[in-house]
Amino acid sequence: MIRSKPEELIRKNMARFVDNEIIPVAQELDNKGEFPREIVQKLARMGIFGIRYPRHKGGAGGNTTLFCIICEEISRGLLSVASIAAMQSLMGTNFLFHNGTPEMFEEYFLPAMRGEKIGCFCMTEPDAGSDLGAITTRATQVDDGYLINGMKTWVTDGPEASFYTVMCQTDPSKRLRGIGYFFIPRHFPGVSVSSPFKCLGTRTTPICEVAFKDVLIPKEYRLTQEGEGLNAFLKIIAEIRAMTAALAIGLQRAAMADSIKYANERIASGKPIGKFQLVQSKVANMATNLEASKLMTYRAAAMIDAGQEALKEATMAKYFATEAACSAADECTRIFAGYGYSMEYTAQRYFRDSRFLLNGGGTHEVLQCNIARSVGL
Ligand SMILES: Cc1cc2nc3c(=O)[nH]c(=O)nc-3n(C[C@H](O)[C@H](O)[C@H](O)COP(=O)(O)OP(=O)(O)OC[C@H]3O[C@@H](n4cnc5c(N)ncnc54)[C@H](O)[C@@H]3O)c2cc1C
Repeated sequence: MIRSKPEELIRKNMARFVDNEIIPVAQELDNKGEFPREIVQKLARMGIFGIRYPRHKGGAGGNTTLFCIICEEISRGLLSVASIAAMQSLMGTNFLFHNGTPEMFEEYFLPAMRGEKIGCFCMTEPDAGSDLGAITTRATQVDDGYLINGMKTWVTDGPEASFYTVMCQTDPSKRLRGIGYFFIPRHFPGVSVSSPFKCLGTRTTPICEVAFKDVLIPKEYRLTQEGEGLNAFLKIIAEIRAMTAALAIGLQRAAMADSIKYANERIASGKPIGKFQLVQSKVANMATNLEASKLMTYRAAAMIDAGQEALKEATMAKYFATEAACSAADECTRIFAGYGYSMEYTAQRYFRDSRFLLNGGGTHEVLQCNIARSVGL
């Protein structure tokens, strides 16, 4: 990958942090399944959560390419830490940054950049996932603001959050055209948070349901104006997909590196298993998919940075890189064979964690429909 000097410098710094601070404890963190507070604090001190926000507004002055580089490197260490960083840097704080009041900026955005407050993004409901036009969480205008009622599920980092960006319906007859984003602090009366879900992978990332019952918020907490919710969503969806593709690249790199190391060390029939052509074929496919994923992802990121329309490219990148990550993790468990089934080795974690990538930013069935539509079907 050809990178500019600043991009390479940031990648190297991030890689050093991942090698020293995340990889040595990744298995232990995953086994414990606890929110990695200490690492989150360190990432905040490095300015990671502000990478896509301007310097003069509390950020680190980067762009989508740098954000993807960081997500990729952290994911190489532990996908669940990377997913926490990604949520905090993008979906969890984006609408607050762009549409919040100066008071909200001081009280929530800056503390989020310092890692003191965690932000989440709530769209999915028990009966509405891919079909966002079917969401029923309702924002009703009242004299002194909005009354919020409804239930959100699969809220990444929800149990740790101090505030939520919540997609609500203001006019059910308009379906997608009636959606909008509302800012809801956790401590407001009527907000309740479930216990964390028991999940297959990404175990340090807590996920839960969040219910809103007659939650009264001030009118300034409406983050998108009437009819603007869908456009606001479309504005960041390309970036969400490019970021998810970058997470998938990190996981591919980890699975491939461990596969190569194991294939060089493990002896069968008197020679390292890496000398067998069918093992070589698996690694060759991993390496080729990885290069293709990088090209697609960083092209989409560069287009976003150049202000170009990049939804098709980011969608293809997310689809391709995530399928490649699932395949690399699967092949890694096969190269490890019996040890790929053991919880003592990394292969099983890559295999479980890879499934995390399938749904965020759209399921692959939905993405394939989007891609087909974008090329004329
Ligand atoms: C680990 C994890 C973290 C998540 N984090 C968050 C979060 O932080 N915030 C949040 O809001 N949500 C989050 N989600 C939810 C995620 O966005 C949804 O799971 C996703 O949108 C799919 O919705 P669903 O699970 O309800 O599946 P459904 O929409 O019910 O889909 C079920 C199946 O039908 C297929 N399908 C549905 N509609 C179509 C269609 N139009 N065309 C073709 N096939 C279709 C799907 O592809 C899938 O195979 C998370 C999910 C997971 C697993």
